[in-house]
Amino acid sequence: MIVKKRKRKSKSKKSQKLSGRVVTSMRSLPTKDRILDKEKEKNVPLAMFKEEDSKKILRLIVYINEFDRLDKEGKQKCRNNDCRNLVCKPFRKYCSRKCSVEFTRWYNKNFYWLNVRNNILKRDDYTCQICGLKLNKKKRHNKKIANWLECDHIIPKSYYTFLGYNFDTLENKIKTVLEFLHNENNLRTLCYKCHKEVTLNNQKSKPLLIDINDNN
Ligand SMILES: [Zn+2]
Ligand SMILES: [Zn+2]
Repeated sequence: MIVKKRKRKSKSKKSQKLSGRVVTSMRSLPTKDRILDKEKEKNVPLAMFKEEDSKKILRLIVYINEFDRLDKEGKQKCRNNDCRNLVCKPFRKYCSRKCSVEFTRWYNKNFYWLNVRNNILKRDDYTCQICGLKLNKKKRHNKKIANWLECDHIIPKSYYTFLGYNFDTLENKIKTVLEFLHNENNLRTLCYKCHKEVTLNNQKSKPLLIDINDNN
């Protein structure tokens, strides 16, 4: 039990480091204009979104195999970010155990939403940042009870294009995810009820933002 605890602690420290590195570029974002999250689309009637919007949101994922690279001769290179080695047996995607562990950890911490979300809930001490509801381990994800905890994008996920982010190249995808979608400064813990309210308000303010954007 103790071993498990320690392991988790060191993990979360690393994730803080990683996300800390990312956070700086959040400065330019209009955090004051709190517009809400429609990240949990399932909480909102689908008819409220344009179909194009929901398609765009679905594509906001960076898959691990997108990091696969080939050299000029078509040989598979190690996936790890700055590694220039070719893959080496017994590893199919990496040159060494070190690269495998390092890259997988980095990827899971930053691109795997459940890990990002859990870190935010932990940071916020499992407490809704609006109403202060705090839920214990058993209750926080239990959807059979009336309320539970979710992770909210303060500036909604779908606003990335308004902020100058793109999802066209791998480089831009990584940038968008690390600097915006999974940026800890843009994430907070909300209970389901507050999250729903915030999301509904957001639906009202979004058309205004689109108008502003069009006029420019
Ligand atoms: Zn390597
Ligand atoms: Zn709440």
